[in-house]
Amino acid sequence: MMKQYSGNLQPCEVAVIGAGVGGLSTAIRLARLGLSVTVFERLERVGGLCGTVALNGRRYVVGCNDFGHGLRRDLKALGISLPFEHKKARIHFAGKHYSMPPDLQTILNFARRLPSFARYVLGLRQARRSAYAKVRFLDELVDEAGVSGRFADILMLPAYLMGVPPDRFRVDSILDEFSFHYGYANPTTPVGGPQALADALYQRLLALGGKVVLGCEVTGVEAVDGKKLIHTSQGSHAVDLLVSTLLKPGYFPPAFESGLPLSMLWLDIDSAYRLPSGIHTHLYYPPGIRQWFGDIYAGRMPAEFGFHFFCSDLGVQDGVNTASVYCHLPRGLAEDAAIQTAAQAYILDRIESLLPGIGGYLRACTMISPAMFREMHGMDPVLTPVIAPAGFPQPDNHAPEDDIYYAGAAAFPPGMHAGAAIRSSAYVSDLIARRLAEGR
Ligand SMILES: Cc1cc2nc3c(=O)[nH]c(=O)nc-3n(C[C@H](O)[C@H](O)[C@H](O)COP(=O)(O)OP(=O)(O)OC[C@H]3O[C@@H](n4cnc5c(N)ncnc54)[C@H](O)[C@@H]3O)c2cc1C
Repeated sequence: MMKQYSGNLQPCEVAVIGAGVGGLSTAIRLARLGLSVTVFERLERVGGLCGTVALNGRRYVVGCNDFGHGLRRDLKALGISLPFEHKKARIHFAGKHYSMPPDLQTILNFARRLPSFARYVLGLRQARRSAYAKVRFLDELVDEAGVSGRFADILMLPAYLMGVPPDRFRVDSILDEFSFHYGYANPTTPVGGPQALADALYQRLLALGGKVVLGCEVTGVEAVDGKKLIHTSQGSHAVDLLVSTLLKPGYFPPAFESGLPLSMLWLDIDSAYRLPSGIHTHLYYPPGIRQWFGDIYAGRMPAEFGFHFFCSDLGVQDGVNTASVYCHLPRGLAEDAAIQTAAQAYILDRIESLLPGIGGYLRACTMISPAMFREMHGMDPVLTPVIAPAGFPQPDNHAPEDDIYYAGAAAFPPGMHAGAAIRSSAYVSDLIARRLAEGR
């Protein structure tokens, strides 16, 4: 657990760039230290990738939609009590259904694979011990463990979930999931959807006296007389300390690629259709991920590809429930109308194996391409913004060269998800508290 500092903190003004969950959490912790905190957010809403947006009077999820169990503990540390539901993910794979976390049937299905699984876990540990000198990517780990066929596909599922082909998915991110207790293997969702989480963070910050300036883009930062001069679309502000939740400029070598952007289908489903209770994500996961994701990554349309569906959890809106389907379309072709039409037809056909009969209840279906997403939110729908090899660290939470603190999913700790973004707040506030307590 993070150490608490109780030295005499000097009155101090802090600016935070970005009101995503990382920026809001960091601002809350700094406000709790007694600092005067202002968050500058370029959008007219809080939450960043985590929230909901309206289209034609109906609300849909922006991006982020389910969370790891560890989030509840992190929210408690921020003084937030938010109701959560424990919903499973259901994976449709090679004609069978599996559950995550595993139910008895899933355990029985994989019981005979235990020796392979043990070799895989052992391989992970060995990879860490050797500082990822030989085994760096998920496909190498699976091959080293001598796992092939369908079980290999199951072990490579995390690559699909992060939008990265298995031969580029860094193996240390699997260990990070456990070392940092994020709990994504045991998913949880806030009652009322992801906007409820963003709103709870926002309200907590306001209650602590923090400020959020919406519709205010930070355009530049200067160091002037020991202060930071923040230039924004609404004027300039001098502050003592600056926290950025943006990717640290120039940190990752340009040769590192980004993961694939998601394409989305927003669905309006007649409320008479009963979605199975207790399940958040329904995943269509065809065998042969190396092949089909490899094709997509290389810009080719495969015959079969994976996608997943989840309901927005916003309650019935004007007779319908809204839901989203996420998929990756071939690199460079996601804006191609013919590819979009083919992908939509494929998804609406295969979705029947996840949710039988749903087709008869669909009232509307809207494709949100990566370019449309960018236009709506000013951000890319990319789960893994930078594909780095195993062992390559996230940026530190403080850059001494320009004295800027970094929070959010783009900084330490590892993990390109909301759990890591929120956890980063503890590290940043700890560094700042220590600095102020030491009078530096
Ligand atoms: C489609 C999609 C689905 C996802 N699903 C999940 C999921 O189910 N579970 C999960 O845990 N994670 C998920 N993620 C990842 C997760 O959403 C992010 O890792 C997390 O929300 C990042 O939070 P953040 O605060 O670090 O950054 P962001 O949410 O990106 O927030 C950054 C904020 O900074 C603002 N900003 C940017 N530039 C400026 C500027 N110059 N001035 C002022 N403001 C600025 C942006 O508008 C934004 O509000 C998903 C990501 C995507 C793209």
